[in-house]
Amino acid sequence: MTATKYVPNARLRETADGLEKLCVKCDEWWPADREFFFSDSEGVHRLLFCCKACYREHYDTRRLTKLPASSSTPFPSLFGAHP
Ligand SMILES: [Zn+2]
Repeated sequence: MTATKYVPNARLRETADGLEKLCVKCDEWWPADREFFFSDSEGVHRLLFCCKACYREHYDTRRLTKLPASSSTPFPSLFGAHP
């Protein structure tokens, strides 16, 4: 009896190298382990919905776009108040 392993989720697939998970952001298949995905207790296969690279990119972008608003120099008078 050759039982095909039932994978109960469209974002998981069984390959010769093992289980893979689809990243919803870059639409690529990556090995479904914590080397490629951050863990998420509520995610598919207990992994986050997107791969680490996308997650970092997403986070870095958000942090970078937020940064300019709060990164004005705290001492403008040092440069603006010369005699
Ligand atoms: Zn990705």
